[in-house]
Amino acid sequence: MEKEKKTEGWNSNTRGKIAVMQKLKDEVKKLARENRMDLVGVASLDRYDHAPEMVRPQAHLPEARAVVSMAIRYPDAMFVNAGDGDAESIFSIETYQNVVIGKCLYNAALRLTRFLEDEGWKTLPIMVSGRWRVHPYKSISTNWCADFSNRHAAVAAGLAEFGLHALAITPQFGMRQRFISVITEAPLEADPMYSGPSLCDKCMLCIKSCPVKSIDPSPEKLEKVTIGSRTFEYAKVDHWRCGWSEQINNIPEEGPAFAGQKIGILPPDEGEIDDKQFLSAFYAKNAEEPFQAPMTHAMGNCMRVCIPPHLRGKQKPPRNYCRQMMKKRSFSKTDASPKEVRRYEVCS
Ligand code: SF4
Repeated sequence: MEKEKKTEGWNSNTRGKIAVMQKLKDEVKKLARENRMDLVGVASLDRYDHAPEMVRPQAHLPEARAVVSMAIRYPDAMFVNAGDGDAESIFSIETYQNVVIGKCLYNAALRLTRFLEDEGWKTLPIMVSGRWRVHPYKSISTNWCADFSNRHAAVAAGLAEFGLHALAITPQFGMRQRFISVITEAPLEADPMYSGPSLCDKCMLCIKSCPVKSIDPSPEKLEKVTIGSRTFEYAKVDHWRCGWSEQINNIPEEGPAFAGQKIGILPPDEGEIDDKQFLSAFYAKNAEEPFQAPMTHAMGNCMRVCIPPHLRGKQKPPRNYCRQMMKKRSFSKTDASPKEVRRYEVCS
């Protein structure tokens, strides 16, 4: 049964409806800020006209009228100092990035959902990024695809624009925030798309810092995505390569080394990676370091080194451990071919 719209004035004339939309949006933003969100924006559904059908807002909530995107910023020192200094600590970044900040986002999304539901509008909170369909599925032709993209929602809601690495960069915090989205039937007016100076100057640091060569910026391979009236281009990202480090911690230099992991396994330099290679590398590393492996965390060099042009000099860059430590990889003779999966040890 249709729930009664409690929002006063919605059933009146056009002026009444506009007033309702404005009041609702003000309340949504106020509630988000009261729940520790540093950024909040609204996207209209027409900005998803070019999105694949299965990942559109209305594929999740057929009555959808808007998407609310919210973000919480990372503490700067957590992001910069991870793995640095005498402590070489990665446990703080692991916990705050994945657990604490994730919980804050879920809490804000749930409270916003409750508020809009109580006003009579169907509302669906989306999870923070971290679950994917790793193979093409029905009409989704790409791999490692979330069922709803928080970074695309952030761009659609005017909070961010894409960098060459295909991640969302905001003018306020660059790469140092995490997003969540809420899809709602509530008639919230969209915020303008970001139209300021470009937040990516193609400095290529993200490409150079990736230890598994997951980002391919070749002009002929650039991906195009249209959101609202804007078309963005970003590099082709091989998500099997990215997951090789980010999801299963096979590259100690991106973080696990600071927890004591010594064994690393590199993917082949070229060509596609398949499930079997991915899993056998994962099991091989875990077999050698069974207790350490679950207590490690990869930090994502592409995120850490990226500072948009206007924040350079204001945001401190992290030390690029990856490239320093890569020089200290020790391959055994039999594992040395760059065309094969390669096991190595990191020397301290
Ligand atoms: S590191 Fe440089 S090239 Fe990569 S996304 Fe950031 S600004 Fe763009």
